[in-house]
Amino acid sequence: MTLVAVLLIGLGVARPALAEDDCGGRPGFAGIAMVNGYSFDWMVWRPFDQTERGWLAYLPLISRELGTACGPDTPGFAVALAGFQKRYGLVANGLFTRDTFQVFKGLWQERRPFVMARVADICPEPPPQSELGYLDPTEEHADRMVRLLQYDVLNAYRLMVRAARAEVPEIADNPELLQVFSSYRDPEADAARCAREGNCDGLRRAVCSPHRTGTAIDLYVGHLAGHGVDSTRWANRRHQTRGPAYRWLVENAHRFGFVPYVYEPWHWEWTGPTTEVLNSERLAPRPHIPPMMVK
Ligand SMILES: [Zn+2]
Repeated sequence: MTLVAVLLIGLGVARPALAEDDCGGRPGFAGIAMVNGYSFDWMVWRPFDQTERGWLAYLPLISRELGTACGPDTPGFAVALAGFQKRYGLVANGLFTRDTFQVFKGLWQERRPFVMARVADICPEPPPQSELGYLDPTEEHADRMVRLLQYDVLNAYRLMVRAARAEVPEIADNPELLQVFSSYRDPEADAARCAREGNCDGLRRAVCSPHRTGTAIDLYVGHLAGHGVDSTRWANRRHQTRGPAYRWLVENAHRFGFVPYVYEPWHWEWTGPTTEVLNSERLAPRPHIPPMMVK
């Protein structure tokens, strides 16, 4: 696969519009709705590398994918899920299952150009220093030292935060929300840190981290007391996905070119410019032009 094809995948995300749902209709799905409502809170499973209870943490992304605002315990949700299952060749009964989740997960992962590059056995080269711009100190989360992003990503990030604060008072009231706690990470420094501290971020830090591209950002979306801002413990992730910042991102980050990583509610990757970004004023400088290019 060419790199161009890899980059295009992230852009071609078509979605059903949010319909005026009749969540309570379709009595034929009442039983399934009840089972979904129960598993939503109580299903014990291992969607990733740890045992989790329920699937609340994945509801925002699933609802968006289905184009439904119906609760997980409603017939309307089951109908929407059955439609999705039919589209992807699964048993179309509207029941939330591990197999159905695997299909969701695959779709979300395919929209990350970085993941597709890794599938093609490519580890993207880090950008030249001249293409990296500094975050403003007010954009940095106190928890971590971060500094750099690709200029276009910085611009998209700034437009996105401005929109989030304008659209959600709860986000505007808490300046900590959507601050960045990790951005560009120098691959060599990452490897050194991995070797020195044994802190290898699940080995990704040593091997090939998306943060080497200068297009991946970790955003503060809240955290559960006693957990770190990037704790992957399921209780922390579940807490984060209930907050206003994450919920807004799920519905709106694509307007600015960002796609999610389902396992880490804080981690977002930029896939390229969008119409909304191109039509907005520029909030970050342009990349430096090498002196030889200046006429
Ligand atoms: Zn990250």
